[in-house]
Amino acid sequence: MGQAKQRGTQEQRIAQAKAKIDALRPEKLVCGACKTAFSDFDALDTRNIAGIQAAFGGICPSCGETVLSFSGEKDAVANAMLAWQDAMENESKLGKQSSTGEHVPFDEPKDS
Ligand SMILES: [Zn+2]
Repeated sequence: MGQAKQRGTQEQRIAQAKAKIDALRPEKLVCGACKTAFSDFDALDTRNIAGIQAAFGGICPSCGETVLSFSGEKDAVANAMLAWQDAMENESKLGKQSSTGEHVPFDEPKDS
């Protein structure tokens, strides 16, 4: 696996994918919380998200909110937003745990 022969082709593929994403890249993202427009954001890896052509995300310079923009099929975009929110929530919880240096069991009382 991963023969050197394939390298040129793979680089071309990456360049093509990058060009495609650049073409979809919006000029600016607008923060949903405070409506600040900003252009300092990154393309996100969407290879594992069905129906999504490209996604961009950055941190709002005004309020620190994470701003995301998905490009693709309407339903896929809606699903991706939900999936991303779940992932971000889990990540922030995990990060919080590790920053304290303590292991806190993930056990929230959700049901009543
Ligand atoms: Zn904001």
